[in-house]
Amino acid sequence: MTTGQGPQIQPRPSIRKLPAYNAGISVAAARMASGRDQIAALASNENPYGSAPGVALALAALATARYSDSASVRLREALAARLQVGAERLVCGNGSEELIAATARAYLGEGDRVLTVSPFFGLHEIEPLAAGADVVKVPMTVDFCFDVDRLVTELASAPKIFFLATPSNPVGVALKRAELDRLIAAARPETLLVLDEAYLEFLDPDYPDGLELLKARPDLSWIVLRTFSKAYGLAGLRVGYGIASHDGIARALRSALTPFNVNAAAQAAAVAALEDQAWMSDATARIRRDRQRLADRLAALGLRVIPSQTNFLFVDVKTDAAEVAKALLARGIIVKPWLEKGYTRFLRVSIGVPQDNDRFATELADILALS
Ligand SMILES: *Cc1c(COP(=O)(O)O)cnc(C)c1O
Repeated sequence: MTTGQGPQIQPRPSIRKLPAYNAGISVAAARMASGRDQIAALASNENPYGSAPGVALALAALATARYSDSASVRLREALAARLQVGAERLVCGNGSEELIAATARAYLGEGDRVLTVSPFFGLHEIEPLAAGADVVKVPMTVDFCFDVDRLVTELASAPKIFFLATPSNPVGVALKRAELDRLIAAARPETLLVLDEAYLEFLDPDYPDGLELLKARPDLSWIVLRTFSKAYGLAGLRVGYGIASHDGIARALRSALTPFNVNAAAQAAAVAALEDQAWMSDATARIRRDRQRLADRLAALGLRVIPSQTNFLFVDVKTDAAEVAKALLARGIIVKPWLEKGYTRFLRVSIGVPQDNDRFATELADILALS
C-alpha cells in the first residue's frame, strides 16, 4: 500500500510546474471571513446589473434533457449577422478562456515561443506553458502604456502566437488606433495574432475595434476573442467566441475543443443577450460613469489610478496590496491584489453598483489612513 505517499504516476512536467490561476474568493468564503452578510464582490469584473431581461425568459424555456447544439449554430449565425463575417469563421467557447486553451492546444508544442505583455491576464501565460511553450513578456512602460516599440521588435522574430489583450486586464488601458495599426503591420504571417477584446464594449468611441482593422488583413493569421461575461452579464454561464481570419483556423480550434463545450443554457442566453443591445449599452454607460466617479474619489485621496477603458480600475495603494486586500476582505469587500512581480502594490477593483464603490473607497481610505 502507498497510503501517506504521493501517487506513483506524475503529470507531464509542463503541468507539474504550472502557476495557479488566481481565481479569487467566492462571496460565500467572504461571508465566512468577514462575518458580514452584505459582500461587495469587486474582484472578477462582473456586471453588477445582471443581464438583459430576455435572458431569464430564454433560460425558463430550456429543454434540459437534450444535448446542446455542438456547433452553436443559432448563436454563431446571430454573431455572423451582427459582425458581418461568415459563420464558418466563428467558434464558441465555454467562456473565451476555453478558446485561449484551445488555441494553445491547437497551435503550440514544446519549445514554441509565445509573446505577450505584462502585467498580463493569467491564462495568456498559463495555457502556453501547459502546452510546453516558452512565454516572452514585454512589460508596459513606467507610465502604463503598451511598449509598442519593443513589441514591434519582438514581432520581427515571428513568435508562434502573440496574445494581446486590449483593453488590458489588469491595467485597463487600451491601444490607440495608430498603435494597433503599428502592431498589426509588424506581425509576420508565421505568427498567430490573438487579440483578446474581452472589454471591447467599454471602450470610448475614439478607440479602434480590432476586428474591423483585422478584416482588412486576410493575409495574416488572427483570432479575435470576445466574451459574454463582462458587458452582457453572463459570467456564470460561461460563453465567449472567437472570430478567425480563416475557416481553417476556426476548424483547428473546434478540433481542440470537446464536442458539447457550450451548454444549452449558455447558447440560449447569449442569443437573447445579443438581441438586447439597448440593455447592454445602458449598463456599460452606467458602469463607465461610475468608474469615473470612483477614479476621481481615489485620486482625491492621493492614490494613483491608471486611466481605464474597462469595468475596473488598477490602483497603486503604495504598500503590499495583498495585505490591503486582506483588510478589505475582513470588512466584507473582495478585490484582486495583483501578485505579479513588480506590481504587488496594485489592486484591481471592479466597478460595482454605486453603493459598493463608495463602500470600497471609504474602507480603503480608512485602512490606508487617508482622508
Ligand atoms: C474575463 C476575461 C476573459 C475571459 O472571460 P470568459 O469569462 O472566459 O469569457 C478573457 N480575457 C480577458 C482579458 C479577460 O479579462
